[in-house]
Amino acid sequence: MVKTALITGITGQDGSYLAEHLLTQGYRIFGLVRRSSSSNLQRISHLLGNVEILPGDLLDQPSLMDAIAQAQPDEIYNLASQSYVPLSWTQPSLTAEYTGLGVARLLDSIRRCKPDAHFYQASSSEVFGQPSESPQTEDTAFRPRNPYGTAKTYGHWLTVNYRQHYGLYACCGITYTHESPRRGAEFVFRKITQGAAKIKLGLAQELKLGNLDARRDWCYAPDAVQAMWLMMQQPEPDDYIIGSGETHSVRELVACAFGVVGLDWQDYVTVDPEFYRPDEAVQLVGCIDKIRRKLQWEPQHSFEKMVEVMVRHDLELLGGGE
Ligand code: GDP
Repeated sequence: MVKTALITGITGQDGSYLAEHLLTQGYRIFGLVRRSSSSNLQRISHLLGNVEILPGDLLDQPSLMDAIAQAQPDEIYNLASQSYVPLSWTQPSLTAEYTGLGVARLLDSIRRCKPDAHFYQASSSEVFGQPSESPQTEDTAFRPRNPYGTAKTYGHWLTVNYRQHYGLYACCGITYTHESPRRGAEFVFRKITQGAAKIKLGLAQELKLGNLDARRDWCYAPDAVQAMWLMMQQPEPDDYIIGSGETHSVRELVACAFGVVGLDWQDYVTVDPEFYRPDEAVQLVGCIDKIRRKLQWEPQHSFEKMVEVMVRHDLELLGGGE
């Protein structure tokens, strides 16, 4: 039997990779898309013949109920959110609406319209904020340190509440930062791979960055969506950490990216306080033992491989690929 999936955030990095993955598995796919005056379908333009777009918005519950009633999905993936941490400081209410209350509207629509659907909530390592231990596990206390992490914490617990109270098949994937050539250039990984490519091609002279000592657990987005899908195929819903299990610093990232284009990063990178973050989350690194053990999931791309893939992609995109 053909399975049907509904994806919120299908126009984003994870949504587009998940749609590709589900297509390889023979799914019928519906994507919930917000109406906007400019097209936001670039990341899925190559999939438009294969996915069905439904209008809807996490701020509007009737639109969610209509979408679920029409799609009758077996699986619902909530990948939509306001996901940029600095913006969550300037637009905290909007972040709470999309990233927090949006989950409430969606869960309640599922409960009313399709209670047997499996539900995936994109939870985030930002729920740990200033963690009490490192690496973090599924049992580490949540101590979010910014409005984005706080909104994600609400979405996470509400998903658990609906699982326990209503018996929904609802699970949370606590993803650490995950990257790909479809990542926006406001995020540091893509900013650096694009920056190195631009400098190599003579399109830029320098790259301004913030805290070079910041460390992150970086995973490859196509690997992460594979984990999301696996979580939804289990007999019982459960929550899992999804990450690489290791950290690297921004400094290592810069050195590696400039290494790919054969340049010394120290000749081009300057530190600009503009990109420093107040209340930086520290030592966020996931313990991925549970997902390894229970789902036999393993990240397929190393840090170095990810950097190389993305720098080469950016070189090609900017017209200088070999
Ligand atoms: P996220 O915070 O994990 O969602 O991802 P980002 O890619 O935005 O930031 C990752 C880390 O890189 C943070 O610790 C930042 O402080 C650090 N960082 C250092 N320089 C920059 C920069 O120029 N831009 C961004 N976005 N982050 C930077």
